[in-house]
Amino acid sequence: MEKRQLLSRLPSVDEALKDQRLFAFFETTARELVTDSVREVINNARQRILNGEALAEPDRDILIQEMVSLVRQKKRHSLTKAVNATGVVLHTNLGRACLSRAACENVIRTSEGYSTLEYDVKKGSRGSRHNHVEYLITKITGAEAAMVVNNNAAATMLCLSTLAEGQEVLVSRGELVEIGGSFRIPDIMKQSGATLYEVGTTNKTRIEDYQRGINEQTAAIMKVHTSNYRIIGFTAETSLEELAALGKKCGIPVLYDMGCGLMYDLQPYGICEPSVPESLRTGIDVILFSGDKLLGGPQAGILAGRKDLIDKMKRHPLARVLRVDKMTLAALEETFRAYLDPEKARTEIPVLAMLTASSQELKERAQQLALKLETQGGCSAEVVPVKDQTGGGSAPTVLLDGWAVAIENGIAPEKMERLLRSREVPIIARIIRERVHFDIRTIADNELDEITEAVSEITKSVEGGERQ
Ligand SMILES: *Cc1c(COP(=O)(O)O)cnc(C)c1O
Repeated sequence: MEKRQLLSRLPSVDEALKDQRLFAFFETTARELVTDSVREVINNARQRILNGEALAEPDRDILIQEMVSLVRQKKRHSLTKAVNATGVVLHTNLGRACLSRAACENVIRTSEGYSTLEYDVKKGSRGSRHNHVEYLITKITGAEAAMVVNNNAAATMLCLSTLAEGQEVLVSRGELVEIGGSFRIPDIMKQSGATLYEVGTTNKTRIEDYQRGINEQTAAIMKVHTSNYRIIGFTAETSLEELAALGKKCGIPVLYDMGCGLMYDLQPYGICEPSVPESLRTGIDVILFSGDKLLGGPQAGILAGRKDLIDKMKRHPLARVLRVDKMTLAALEETFRAYLDPEKARTEIPVLAMLTASSQELKERAQQLALKLETQGGCSAEVVPVKDQTGGGSAPTVLLDGWAVAIENGIAPEKMERLLRSREVPIIARIIRERVHFDIRTIADNELDEITEAVSEITKSVEGGERQ
């Protein structure tokens, strides 16, 4: 058939919309989404004919089916809930820290209607958004003052711009980190207007190296936690205590970009990361850390330390640029509140609960999932030991003992993994030795049925498809 003839067989938008399968959407779906989908499919078909890729008469039924699946796709939210079955607790691609129930409820309470975001109820006049969390942060960390910005990268930027613009900042050569591909100490330093002054070597930086680096241009000494890598072998690192003493002697502020924001002792659980209160006790001047790493709260960057320095940062124009929203403050206040009682923090903050779960506890939950999958999921399931990770650029060398459920249902693991992640609530699983694994550490109790149902549906539909 000629192209012109083929084109004339394509349905018009109005014709397509008369089909019951598309028409039915109008009750539940914005009209625009349906007409856009119809138009898109017709345009694609037209393009295929014009390119000479489609030689036969277009099959209307197939076109309608394409339109229907496109409408379904467009109806879905882009940012949706997902099930993390990878065992990586702070999974950066899956939103890092899960918030506690109390934090989520506080976000709803303070965001649905008006709030006291910048209102001082005692005075009946303008207040400051910084005040909501400052008391709690100082109480829990032992700092004199604190403020919150959008993330740790923003905190670093604000801190350096305020204290060191046009001057030099000493950093060890072993600590010029890159986190997540876009946060790089030398780049953020340049952006802030401060000049990076490298001291020491990649594997060894001693206090004398810092001492030698100090000159009349020095505005600060910055220590950066090597969050996502470790230097091993013949190494020497200068402690915070030594740096704090040197800073005091020379009248130069010592800043510590810590990243992880640990507030609870995880050593008994095999995770040895520096903690915020412990680091502040060494006498450093300002600490910077993330809200959504080991702290287990919302994305945020927290600056805590000397009041005169924090006050200066609050007044810097960048503070307005990097300020956080009320939802962040609501979640952060509730997260910090939990730390007033450490045991409450451990059980209520999901990141801590996941990291401190005992092997026995995990094994029992894995057995529960395996039983569900065998009886209702239509597959065979085996409980197997696995190694889990903290993730989020923390404790890079630590592998936690965990448990997973490995399944077999006659579907190739790559295909199964893809089908699981293309569901309305995507389930992100791992393939280990040719089997799909659901790692129990990062799976919530209310997600066990979700996984079982997904496996059951996929197994049935693929078996059904093969029979046809
Ligand atoms: C994670 C991390 C950052 C970046 O923090 P974000 O909250 O992701 O912006 C900066 N510095 C260190 C040392 C980190 O570990």
